Amino acid sequence: MTFEQLQLIPAILKAMAKENYTQPTPIQTQAIPPVLAGRDLFGCAQTGTGKTAAFLLPILQRLSAKQERPSGKRVIRSLILTPTRELAIQIADNCKAYGRFLNLRSTVIVGGVSQKAQEQELAQGMDILIATPGRLIDLMNQGYADLRHVQILVLDEADRMLDMGFIHDMKRIIAKLPAKRQTLFFSATMPNEIKSLVDSLLTDPVKIEITPVSSTAERIQQSLYFVDKPNKLSLLIDLMQDKSISSALVFTRTKRGADRVVRGLTKAHISAQAIHGDKSQTARQTALNNFKNGTTRLLVATDIAARGIDIDELSHVINFNLPNIPETYVHRIGRTGRAGLSGIAISFCEQEEIPYLKDIEKLIKRKIPVIKDHPYPLGQTEEPAPAAVGAAKPGSAPVGAAKAGSAPAGTGAARGSRGGSGRESAGSGGANGGSNGHRHRRRRPQAGK
Ligand code: AMP
Repeated sequence: MTFEQLQLIPAILKAMAKENYTQPTPIQTQAIPPVLAGRDLFGCAQTGTGKTAAFLLPILQRLSAKQERPSGKRVIRSLILTPTRELAIQIADNCKAYGRFLNLRSTVIVGGVSQKAQEQELAQGMDILIATPGRLIDLMNQGYADLRHVQILVLDEADRMLDMGFIHDMKRIIAKLPAKRQTLFFSATMPNEIKSLVDSLLTDPVKIEITPVSSTAERIQQSLYFVDKPNKLSLLIDLMQDKSISSALVFTRTKRGADRVVRGLTKAHISAQAIHGDKSQTARQTALNNFKNGTTRLLVATDIAARGIDIDELSHVINFNLPNIPETYVHRIGRTGRAGLSGIAISFCEQEEIPYLKDIEKLIKRKIPVIKDHPYPLGQTEEPAPAAVGAAKPGSAPVGAAKAGSAPAGTGAARGSRGGSGRESAGSGGANGGSNGHRHRRRRPQAGK
């Protein structure tokens, strides 16, 4: 399949050539024709699949076909809502690139920056408005954003918007849009809340599901280090002696953890910067730019801060902490190995994270290969608790066979304490017996919120 075969107009084909996109990705092949035809769309896809172009290209083409925005009026013709500022800025950059040969106005409206310039932009009307919900609501309430003429709405990373508590803002915004419109809805996961939102917002949508999580995991070379929590930083510094790790995104569970890792790396003369919600917009953008241009070797991030950030040629992802939501692992490692490049994902697993590892391995349907030979094997700084399979309490799970090297097999304590699928059992309240401490921990909010 080629972009030409998708019936895209020459101005867009030319932009694709300029981007060096030689052929459409699967989500683009499937989404572009129905969206061009005006259909609603429900895309179950994550970042890295090419989903941004999958919705931007047909939107650009549809809007350029009818240049009907009355000049001088505050008309907004299409609206793209995203959960984070970084993602909004990224989409806006893509929009400018893909639409460079078209005469369409686009802008991005996010918090954390002055509102004045945004008011002025909106006063002239907008073909494509890319926004995070909070600032858009502010502008709406002050009468600067008139959404009554929006023809196309995109909800990107809708599951993330729900996670971040934007549901009411989203509903308030959608209530201001005309009922007759085209709606494109993207979500990486499909919890029930998302399904009901899809049912209420979309009319006879085309449904597209791209890359089931297990296949994302297949193309990435993964490895696992069992290591005590206090030794993780030393292990990271040790690994960074390998100069082939030219640029790595390091995930920590908390914002403070990210700062701690950066301090430790800096002391060891390894260039690193943190990116998370407590940093100012400018600081985050600077950190990202420094990472992109190679000034910093490591970008240390929480999940929310990292999500949606588009970094080409990321050679490594390092999980300093394993996430408590298994899908998050797949999202994280999916940041490397994009567009056919091979990617490498390294994970550190401390004693307390073994239950998370079990959930991840269940989801990706494979064991992550363990690196046995390293200087900081598990059990160096803590006395292993007596091995009592099934009786493990959080924080005192037996090391057992999980000693350096043999770990997945040695996670029996975790396995014994959990019933069926980790996902279903999360929060289901006692149905599985055993240690419900794990379930409590799974509900603990993810970092960066
Ligand atoms: P996305 O899933 O939208 O975040 O896109 C992931 C990455 O793939 C971005 O760096 C895009 O620039 C890139 N990309 C999108 N479409 C294509 C394509 N057809 N060919 C090559 N790269 C692409």
